Amino acid sequence: MTTVVVVGSGIAGLTAALHAHEAGCRVTVVTKGALVDTNTRWAQGGIAAVTDPDDTVASHAADTITAGAGLNDPDAVDVLVGEGPARIAELVARGVGFDRTADGDFSRGLEAAHAVARVLHAGGDATGAAIQAALGDAVRAAGIPVREHALLRDLVIEDGRVTGIELADGERLTADAVVLATGGAGQLYAHTTNPLGATGDGIAAAIRAGAAVADLEFVQFHPTALAAGAPFLVSEAVRGEGAVLIDDAGRRFAFDAHPDGELAPRDVVARANARAMAAQDGHPVRLDATALGPERLARRFPTIDAAVRERGLDWAHVPIPVTPAAHYLMGGVVTDLDGRTTVPGLYAVGETARTGVHGANRLASNSLLEGAVFGARAGDAAARDRDWPVAPAVPARPAPVAVDTDAPAFSRSALQRLMWDDAGLVRDAAGLDRAAATLAAWRSPGRLSAVEDDNLLLVATHVVDAARARTGSVGAHYRSDAVQPASIPAPSEVLAC
Ligand SMILES: Cc1cc2nc3c(=O)[nH]c(=O)nc-3n(C[C@H](O)[C@H](O)[C@H](O)COP(=O)(O)OP(=O)(O)OC[C@H]3O[C@@H](n4cnc5c(N)ncnc54)[C@H](O)[C@@H]3O)c2cc1C
Repeated sequence: MTTVVVVGSGIAGLTAALHAHEAGCRVTVVTKGALVDTNTRWAQGGIAAVTDPDDTVASHAADTITAGAGLNDPDAVDVLVGEGPARIAELVARGVGFDRTADGDFSRGLEAAHAVARVLHAGGDATGAAIQAALGDAVRAAGIPVREHALLRDLVIEDGRVTGIELADGERLTADAVVLATGGAGQLYAHTTNPLGATGDGIAAAIRAGAAVADLEFVQFHPTALAAGAPFLVSEAVRGEGAVLIDDAGRRFAFDAHPDGELAPRDVVARANARAMAAQDGHPVRLDATALGPERLARRFPTIDAAVRERGLDWAHVPIPVTPAAHYLMGGVVTDLDGRTTVPGLYAVGETARTGVHGANRLASNSLLEGAVFGARAGDAAARDRDWPVAPAVPARPAPVAVDTDAPAFSRSALQRLMWDDAGLVRDAAGLDRAAATLAAWRSPGRLSAVEDDNLLLVATHVVDAARARTGSVGAHYRSDAVQPASIPAPSEVLAC
């Protein structure tokens, strides 16, 4: 019987685990927090898929490729949108209660950059929590063991293939196949919408194992996250309803960047916020929603209203601090269409993977779908594969920098600040060179408790390296020093839920 270890308990990992189990494998899920400690549970807007007879997979594919500035892998896009409806049906069968209209049809939301309303949601703006709960229940019901609070430190490689994983406490789990589903790396940045666990652990472990990674320069930033307490997204809809952005002097600065001011394309507003913050020593800018009044705010935005109030803020009367924030990593561990990496026996899925499906920027609500579609394919492939094939040749990044043992140790906050300042929303050669030199001079704190910090340092090095290599602006990668060839599309408007 094939033994599969799945690392990560978000939508991608749990889907892969269920598929491998249903195909007859002995599966164990390993996750560093509680089962529900994932990015998946925080997803608000929903999951995009073609479920309306008036919609087409061609339309969903076209929207995905436009958002990705044409750098998407068209085969991966075809898989994503083509298999999306089946994975939605599977989620329903596993117990996800998507919101319905009075006549029982799916309630479909329209999000920016989608040609039609195709975004399914559950519990209004609690889609991720509903999916997380249903998949967690399904895994438990299937009797798949879940090792909670077990942190992957590294992959075990023997004779050129993965044979298991090593946990932070030194325990080794052997496996015929290992599926990395460890999510993204929002914690690279001083401001992020991602929870604390998004430290790029799987990407770093894959790099150390010699797997190819790509597209790490493509980091998507959201314009408005609450800059108080735990990270929390403040939807663009709040600005759509009339809230405005002001700096420390109370000035509406968004019109400096675009004639549409606060309603300009998302990446334009995110960069305008970043510039305003840089001009005021990094203090967050403020979102002034006071004109909307307490009743409208509570009725129209109940979840955000509750989150704001939990943090002791009264946004009906006082502007709230907001910041652009790292939100989603388009790049990752290079895979084929079945999640196979370039290391035999190693698979990667979800935000950890670089399937090529997102190109240079992700279309709204396509990441949950990616986890469901490619998680299923990787679970099936891990069960099916016997000779452990690898992904085809790919653009590999250079090997990680060697560690100088006399170099100074770093702190996570120093790394996050460096990445924010020099490899964030707006990049140029001088800043990226500075970041590369600083990262190369740092060494790991060397403590067992610093496994995640080591991983952030390694992934940061690769992000900066990739950003230095791409000298033009495209998608989410914006270089202020770019000489923009006419053939490269300008940064696109993409709603990132
Ligand atoms: C606030 C917010 C809102 C979002 N809204 C949407 C939306 O509406 N629609 C959409 O499509 N996308 C949305 N996204 C993006 C989407 O939620 C994520 O991209 C997606 O959930 C990633 O799923 P995943 O399974 O790949 O990883 P995750 O859900 O992040 O799961 C990663 C798992 O790996 C585990 N792990 C990590 N490192 C280790 C380690 N070293 N050892 C063991 N376990 C480890 C973690 O504990 C976790 O269980 C949103 C993201 C955020 C942050």
